[in-house]
This record gives sequence, structure tokens and C-alpha cells, in this order.
Amino acid sequence: MRIGFGYDSHVFESGKPLVLGGVIIPECDGLKAHSDGDVLIHAVIDSLLGAAALGDIGSHFPDTDERWKGADSGELLRSVVYELRGAGYSIENIDVTVICERPKLRPFVELIRSSLAELMSVGIGRISVKGKTNEGMDAVGAGKGIAVHAVALLK
Ligand code: MG
Repeated sequence: MRIGFGYDSHVFESGKPLVLGGVIIPECDGLKAHSDGDVLIHAVIDSLLGAAALGDIGSHFPDTDERWKGADSGELLRSVVYELRGAGYSIENIDVTVICERPKLRPFVELIRSSLAELMSVGIGRISVKGKTNEGMDAVGAGKGIAVHAVALLK
């Protein structure tokens, strides 16, 4: 068994859709990023790569590379999972905590879990997604962006 931890944060940017775990969240600003800004998937990718000691999202998909401009983070996740399986790993489970004042995550949690399960080709019972606020503290608490923590267990 190998455990990995991932973290990411992005600030809101108006004029683009918010994508979390491959799910478009309506009526909320998107996130500033070179890719589609899917902060949740970025944290999950780093947890998976961390568990396998295979670098991080920046080493696999550098934001200086035009290939990844506006990239669909779901496709990046698919390719990381493919690489891990090729290296002999299987995904035991992942657990994700999303921290933001808005949007309220609860109505989207099941959609995000099934989206991640589909992207990673694992049963939904292996995927946990939890949302919470930062109780008004710091920049995330001021509603400036979204932060995500993720842990992954590989076999
Ligand atoms: Mg990111």
C-alpha cells in the first residue's frame, strides 16, 4: 500500500465556467488557470502521483506548454490513472476535501463522485468528496477562491 497527498488552490475568475471534478457548477465564476482550472482534479492528480512517487502535475503537464492551455483536467486524470496502472498500481480509494465559501458543494457531491469514478474507472464506493467552508478565515474564507486537499491510497 502507498499513500499520497495532494493540494491545490485557484482564485476565481469571471467569464468562464466553474468545473469541479469534471462537473460544471452553474451560476458560479470559474477559476483562473492555464488549464480548465479544475482545482479538485489537480489535487487528486497530485495525490495519485505522490503515492507512486512519480512527480507532480506540473512535471507531467507544465503550464508553460501550449498543449495544456485550456486542457480538460479530466483527460489529464485519465492519462495519470493509465500511467499508474501501467506501473502496476491499482487505486484503493481517494478522499477529497474541498474548501470554499461558495458554491455550496452538497448538491453536487454525488455528481462529482460519479464523474471521478468514471474518469478513474473505479467504483464510486472508492471515492469520497466532502465540502466545507473556511468559516470566513483567510483568503479562501473571504471567497477569493477554492482550495482542495486530497489523499489517495494505491495498491
Ligand atoms: Mg491547479
